Amino acid sequence: MDKWVPLICIIFSAILVLVAYSLWNLNITDASDNTIKKGLQIKGDSIEDIFSKHKILLVPGHDLENYGAKFNDLKEEEINLELSKIIYNLFEKDERFDVFITRNENGYTKEFSDYFTNQKEEIDNFIYENKEKTRDSYRNGEFEPVRVVEHNLAAKDVAFKLYGINKWVNDNEIDLVVHVHFNDYPRDNMDIAGKYNGFSIYIPSNNLTGYDGAKKIAKNLRENLGKFFNESNLPVEKDIIIKNSDLIAVGSNNTITNSIPILVEYGYIYEDIFYREDQRVGNLNKAAYQTYDSIRKNLTN
Ligand SMILES: [Zn+2]
Repeated sequence: MDKWVPLICIIFSAILVLVAYSLWNLNITDASDNTIKKGLQIKGDSIEDIFSKHKILLVPGHDLENYGAKFNDLKEEEINLELSKIIYNLFEKDERFDVFITRNENGYTKEFSDYFTNQKEEIDNFIYENKEKTRDSYRNGEFEPVRVVEHNLAAKDVAFKLYGINKWVNDNEIDLVVHVHFNDYPRDNMDIAGKYNGFSIYIPSNNLTGYDGAKKIAKNLRENLGKFFNESNLPVEKDIIIKNSDLIAVGSNNTITNSIPILVEYGYIYEDIFYREDQRVGNLNKAAYQTYDSIRKNLTN
């Protein structure tokens, strides 16, 4: 009998070790789950938050190759970028948003320049197919173009980039796209400030995607910008919020499938409040904050 005692002891000890190990293992699992949960709570980013962030794309109008309007030494692409960057910083600080921008001082960001190069054929097909579809529905009487204000047709390379941006917006499930511009109009002497001033907001026509959302945000933005800036007094812009089915930026040819696009002309490039450097920063800050605030209120409530 005595010789069994050590064996029983060994078996008993082994069982104890196994039980202890199992309990310890359970605890560890439990504890690490808590750590993960606590970690998420501390950061304020639950899994739901991460997936419900609103994605915003900012498109500073024009680029280094095609700078848009120009008044003396100020190019439109520069002031568009300056304002877009202020708007970008406001959204970046707000954890409810994921914000993207198409370009910086050096040109298109890597994301976009790579996209234009690597997706060249896909973008060309995307343009061709959507134009064909729109032409067919126009011929069948299912689509009526809406153009209150005529715009110059975009050159082919400009159109390629703008349609490319729309395709990127679809591929990346962007919720809202904001195109940032300053206005100008043809006159005898372009070196002298013109007689028009004030902002206007372009949205998709009611037969394009994003019309309802864009209209809501545009109404709010009109009120907010209106506290600090004049509304456009260019006769054809008298509606201030202008529906359009031809502007690529707001999804012409149905090229925006599930997003809200708006294009804001914040003012005329030669207006002192924007042209003069001593007034510019303060006014761009105001315009940026009103843009951020109008979008935030509409997307997060
Ligand atoms: Zn422009």
